[in-house]
Amino acid sequence: MSDYHYPYKDAEFLINDVIGFDDICQSAGLDEVNSELVSAIFEEANRFGAEVILPLNVIGDQNGATLGENGVQQSPGFAEAYRQYVDNGWGALAFPEQFGGQGMPRLVSTAVDEIWQSSSLAFALCSLLTHGTVEALMEHGSDELKEIYLPNLVSGEWTGTMNLTESAAGSDLAAVATRAVPEGDHYLISGQKIFITWGDHQMTDNVIHLVLARLPDAPAGSRGISLFLVPKFLLDEEGNPGERNDVHCVSLEHKLGIHASPTCVLAFGDNGGAIGYLVGEPNRGLMAMFTMMNDARQGVGLQGLSLSTRSYQQALEFAKERLQGTRSDGSRFPIIEFPDVRRMLMLMKASTEAMRGLAYISAAEIDLAHFATDAETAIRHNSRVDLYTPIVKGWLTELSQEITSLGIQVHGGMGYVEETGSAQFYRDARITTIYEGTTGIQGQDLVGRKILSNSGELLENLLNDIQATTDELSASGQLADLGQALQTSVDAGRTARQWLLDNAGQDRNVAGGASVNLLMMLGYICGGWVMGRSALKAAQLLAAGGGDEAFLEAKLITARFYMEHLLPRADSCLTTIQAGSESMMALEEDQF
Ligand SMILES: Cc1cc2nc3c(=O)[nH]c(=O)nc-3n(C[C@H](O)[C@H](O)[C@H](O)COP(=O)(O)OP(=O)(O)OC[C@H]3O[C@@H](n4cnc5c(N)ncnc54)[C@H](O)[C@@H]3O)c2cc1C
Repeated sequence: MSDYHYPYKDAEFLINDVIGFDDICQSAGLDEVNSELVSAIFEEANRFGAEVILPLNVIGDQNGATLGENGVQQSPGFAEAYRQYVDNGWGALAFPEQFGGQGMPRLVSTAVDEIWQSSSLAFALCSLLTHGTVEALMEHGSDELKEIYLPNLVSGEWTGTMNLTESAAGSDLAAVATRAVPEGDHYLISGQKIFITWGDHQMTDNVIHLVLARLPDAPAGSRGISLFLVPKFLLDEEGNPGERNDVHCVSLEHKLGIHASPTCVLAFGDNGGAIGYLVGEPNRGLMAMFTMMNDARQGVGLQGLSLSTRSYQQALEFAKERLQGTRSDGSRFPIIEFPDVRRMLMLMKASTEAMRGLAYISAAEIDLAHFATDAETAIRHNSRVDLYTPIVKGWLTELSQEITSLGIQVHGGMGYVEETGSAQFYRDARITTIYEGTTGIQGQDLVGRKILSNSGELLENLLNDIQATTDELSASGQLADLGQALQTSVDAGRTARQWLLDNAGQDRNVAGGASVNLLMMLGYICGGWVMGRSALKAAQLLAAGGGDEAFLEAKLITARFYMEHLLPRADSCLTTIQAGSESMMALEEDQF
């Protein structure tokens, strides 16, 4: 099994040269943050990831979390590693200093999260949910709740969970049935939540659940859902965990991957009601929970990238070592020399670089919105984040299915058996297109909330930005053919947008039938944009005689490969979108 190493060169090239990190920091007034500091952070995170988290990956896969008398027992070594993670301040990296955070830009914490997730997805999931809990509380919690709960969540002393799903309420949260009855200054919560990630463990002395539930007089549907904070242990007068609250893990799921991440059935109120506190306004809980969900959707997209990177690194190492060809002189050569193995490795390499590009560009937009000094700029960047979120979640995780599968294919039979570790990446990746909203739900969000609701304006703005890169490539001489390829896909994107606007109103199945193809199409186009921008920068640096020549030349070739082998998939998506939903919906159910 290969060691993981953070792809510094690619990441730093993206952050510093393509995205322009120092400019973002300067405009945000972050005088002490610059690319040098960030390099040092990445180096330390890579060391911590390799030495402390990476060894947990296989241990956790083979020794999953268990349920005992005292609740969930995490996999061996996890508590010790988590303690070090907190003590080293990693949990607090991107949170505001006001609550004990370090105030680093999201772009930095995203890159660092890639290291944690690549090292052990199951381990990193716990902090991913704590992160979302903090975001939701910062945005919607009362001053009192913030003061009491945020510092320990920001530091990672306590962890957070997200409680949406019930047996009858999965994608359709309007069906949430958990009840919340007012009692004095709090509420009594009762009901059962399923599939709750890291819903219980012994790594910290408290677990803070954010729970969707209904008040007694709440209207039916999604407009009658409220959000509550329910601690595992109630706090005593000094704010320390004291009496056990009435929430318990009653069973754990057995599942395909992420064995070390406990997936809990949580029972609230079996003994009279779990004490909870309202977050935000009554009946507006789904909106408040969306802050957490959107944060987690970006994080899960990053999981797709992280597992793909692991899978690629391991496949590459194997392909260099595995001898299967014989030359005319009888000597043997490694499989990396076969064109079809090259095809697979290049698909993996080009995809992961494009995925990383989109994930980091999206993180930079979050920073630009956060640090904006006027409302108009903040709205513009937030709107772009809104548009990116379903694409980052959907496209990166869908691609990770293909990439981690290719990782197995490069290994041949050794990939299918567990020994090399390649199979684990594939098994772990499988959940990423399901939780935090399936790809179908991301497609629905993209088409409904992010495109049709604003008559396609946000998408038009994005395509205009991509057009500018296309024009630059076309005018560049050396990279004009890349510009031509990108132009074809931008034109296809415009055609798809218009087709959707023209047809969505006619039949309710049109948007639903086209949505995932549109999501994938925009993913490939955004990937082409990132690779086009990267190619322009690489050519510029090479011409100026600066930078790492071998890396920059490889970037130019990888960008070309992307345009030739991956970007044409956008055209194929367009053909499918334009076919409409008629044949999809035509069969009677008993004709299947
Ligand atoms: C390991 C794991 C961890 C999880 N962690 C958490 C957690 O921490 N907290 C939490 O609250 N939940 C969690 N979940 C639940 C997860 O978010 C749901 O499983 C997911 O949202 C899908 O819901 P469902 O399973 O009910 O599937 P369903 O909603 O029944 O969907 C089944 C199929 O129908 C499709 N579908 C349903 N509705 C639509 C629609 N409107 N448009 C198009 N297609 C649709 C889906 O795309 C899917 O293909 C976890 C699940 C797992 C397996």
